[in-house]
Amino acid sequence: MNEHSLRKKLSKLDIGGLRYFDSIGSTNDEALAWATSGAPDFSLVIADEQTHGRGRLDRKWFTPKRSGLAVSLILRLPASHLPYFSRTGGLAALSIAETCSGLGLAPRIKWPNDILINSKKVAGILIENIWAGDEVDSLVIGMGVNVYKDSVPPAELLQFPATSLEDELGKNPPAREEILFKILSAFTHWRERIGTDELIQIWEKLLAFRGEQVQVSGDIPITGELLGLESDGSLRLRDASSKSVIVRFGDVSLRPGA
Ligand code: ADP
Repeated sequence: MNEHSLRKKLSKLDIGGLRYFDSIGSTNDEALAWATSGAPDFSLVIADEQTHGRGRLDRKWFTPKRSGLAVSLILRLPASHLPYFSRTGGLAALSIAETCSGLGLAPRIKWPNDILINSKKVAGILIENIWAGDEVDSLVIGMGVNVYKDSVPPAELLQFPATSLEDELGKNPPAREEILFKILSAFTHWRERIGTDELIQIWEKLLAFRGEQVQVSGDIPITGELLGLESDGSLRLRDASSKSVIVRFGDVSLRPGA
């Protein structure tokens, strides 16, 4: 993957702008700075290597050289999409999941932001919003996809098992440009349908641990059966007293079992 091959592969898509780096601290940091200084809608920051990739709560995300996809997508939402902006994480997760399905794999979305294959994390998403008063000015959607085996961090650094497309396919995956093209094509498709029930239904079908007992750890830990999604993308659980509990977006992490 290099800038030339990326530009060529992505030329069929309606990209706002593209900044490519052989190595960068964090693609989200670069994208946040670019968004603040007026990046057009659907601009991309892509790096071959991240030296300080971030997860949520300042956890680290590993992207060694030539191993995976580290991409930050800048979105400026049209006014008609603003009521649905909380669905953006689902949109990104669905786009990565559909791309994995297209490769013959069986992905699941660990709400809110991870893609699993065979119960192991193959991709993560980090969304950061830029606000203008009470309204979202723009969003930066960071996507990290483990493509080759080398992208998988050593087990002792992980709280959750990880995998790569190469490991799961048992053979060489398609080129990273090709995988990114598929993710962004799916994203473009679903973005036009951001307000539809279909988006929520398909996202819900792909949820990991549906019908199982899960624990959501946040300020107040919650345990219950994972039922599905609310229309804003919040998670719906049934607690021990059969009461429906809604988990909004926030710093929660989901672990199977009770
Ligand atoms: P979670 O959703 O599991 O709470 P985050 O989305 O914040 O976690 O992602 C950061 C965590 O992901 C890190 O703490 C690390 O354990 C794990 N991690 C870091 N790099 C990778 C990678 N390339 N593949 C899979 N997991 C990773």
